[in-house]
Amino acid sequence: MTLYCNVCAREQLHRISATVTKLVSETSNENQGPFWYVSAQISECGGCGNFSFQEIFHDSDAPSEDDTSRNTYPERWYRLPRQYRAVPWVLESTYRELVFAYNQHWGPLPALSFLSTIGLSVLLEMICKDKGGTEADQRGRFGTVDSLEKLLPPNVVAALHEVRRLGNDAKHEFRHLDRENLGRALDAIESVLDTLYDLEAKAMNFHLQAPVRRRE
Ligand SMILES: [Zn+2]
Repeated sequence: MTLYCNVCAREQLHRISATVTKLVSETSNENQGPFWYVSAQISECGGCGNFSFQEIFHDSDAPSEDDTSRNTYPERWYRLPRQYRAVPWVLESTYRELVFAYNQHWGPLPALSFLSTIGLSVLLEMICKDKGGTEADQRGRFGTVDSLEKLLPPNVVAALHEVRRLGNDAKHEFRHLDRENLGRALDAIESVLDTLYDLEAKAMNFHLQAPVRRRE
């Protein structure tokens, strides 16, 4: 069985160590149907040996991927939130909320895709309002993506426009990003947070020691 491993940070083959299955009635009378099966399964990662526990709900005594829903413990962290030093608290907590939403899955499917896609544009708007300055853009608006033009390279600003447009699509056209593209958009936002906030903070702590002089 393949399962994402938090420690290996990738999909890994897992060996099933033990499975217990029981029949459960949907009604309060346990002798009366309809029934379903619940399995409790312990599995061991083939890479690092860590254990996972799965609770599997299925319609037959031979569970397949098609007829099951499952909860996995501990929760899978497909992406760990980055640690920032100089990002304002409200931005960082929104960023962490976004990574949390990205990590939620029902089985193999992303569970909070709409919230993640809209969350990306909310976080982007926060960054623009915070770093956009007091000068109006070409259309007389403040705190827009264009207001970051002086701080970021043109191709990065273009990528942020794309994130903004995709957020609008989710809100108004009810289209959300898939997991792969959500990951790419998060990569872009993380780099922007790094450039606009943490780069300066890291540079201030960057003290080189004088090189040791070689004896002649
Ligand atoms: Zn592992």
